[in-house]
Amino acid sequence: MSETPYFISLEEAINIAQSTPIKAETEFISLDEAHGRILGSDLPSKVNDPPFDNSAMDGFAVRHEDSKEAPTTLAVVATTQAAASDESISISSGEAVRIMTGAPLPQGADAIIPIEACIVVGDSVTLNQPSKPHFIRRCGENIKEGVVGLKQGSYLSPQSISMCATMGYDQLPVMKKLKIGIISTGDELKSPGEPLSFGEIYESNSYGLSGLVQALGHTPVRYPSVIDSLDDLRAQFNKAASECDLFLTSGGVSMGEWDFVRKLMEEEGDVAFWRVRIRPGSPPLFGHWNDTPMFGLPGNPVSSHVVFRMLVTPYIRSSLQTQFPIDRIVHAKLLTDVRSTNDCLTLRRVTLRSTKEGFLAEQSKHQGSGNIDSLSSADGLTLLQPNQSGKTGEWIEVLLL
Ligand code: AMP
Ligand code: MG
Repeated sequence: MSETPYFISLEEAINIAQSTPIKAETEFISLDEAHGRILGSDLPSKVNDPPFDNSAMDGFAVRHEDSKEAPTTLAVVATTQAAASDESISISSGEAVRIMTGAPLPQGADAIIPIEACIVVGDSVTLNQPSKPHFIRRCGENIKEGVVGLKQGSYLSPQSISMCATMGYDQLPVMKKLKIGIISTGDELKSPGEPLSFGEIYESNSYGLSGLVQALGHTPVRYPSVIDSLDDLRAQFNKAASECDLFLTSGGVSMGEWDFVRKLMEEEGDVAFWRVRIRPGSPPLFGHWNDTPMFGLPGNPVSSHVVFRMLVTPYIRSSLQTQFPIDRIVHAKLLTDVRSTNDCLTLRRVTLRSTKEGFLAEQSKHQGSGNIDSLSSADGLTLLQPNQSGKTGEWIEVLLL
């Protein structure tokens, strides 16, 4: 039997996890519910948009040939507006049609003069500017019928939802939301709001992880935290594995004697890797419990968050075959020294300021991985490669939070 991969690079860890993706399904939902979802298949347009040539301006539809010189006076023979259903409106030489934005272009017209350049007197209009064959929105110039307007895996932003509506869709195939279980572990954990006894701390990871799951558009199932006992953990793992598509634990995966998540996974689960070359956040493991994928995240609050960002997010992204969320990486100049490591990708927390020179990054808070303030007040994580200097003045890559 081969050894479990141990202390591997982030890329290797992502690849191993991705080889057993979550079984993602699609469902149909109405356009009203689609914001923030991931499109489940390519979407070809049902129509040409616009469906007919129409005016981009309020003004007069004219023949370009008649109006190359200004001023020109033409006879106004009709008025037409958006939704005008009379297809017979047309102009001949010396004529113009008063037209509103979105109205179908009258037959014979090939230019629109904006209203601002016209003087209307009775039944005639004087054009104060020479016409150009302008301000006409051509049939299909936005999208042609049958052309894919949005690809499978697209994030449904407000603008892409407008695109779906324009293409004629009232229902959309989307990826089903994943149910992601969250189990925090540790004898010392108390829920916020309860009084603390000596030795206890407030349990914070499950709330942050729940927010991270929601930010990706999925459904967190936050279970009560579990004490460090193999029996209690086993029962909670069984429940989470049967109810969720994926579950996350926090705590209990390091080298300590009370690190029972790792112990349980090693003895009764299926571990695909343990420990990753990132700092903070080197302890995580990935594996399966009763065939349900699970990530064992570190207990330190900064670490659990960072590992979600670096490892769980790419896993969910690839399971749903989407690029969402895109990792936004900027280049920034360091205003303070940032300590790198010789064997890990180092993810220090920095604040950023945008200047004419570019972004300036500052590490202003204590970087202990237990100190969530260093993360909650930060704008980004340094992507310092092993042995990169991290000295003041160096330009580095920063992943935006
Ligand atoms: P562990 O990995 O279980 O040894 O935990 C590492 C550190 O993180 C310890 O100081 C724990 O008290 C702390 N910790 C573990 N779980 C949580 C949690 N859910 N919320 C806040 N801190 C935690
Ligand atoms: Mg613990």
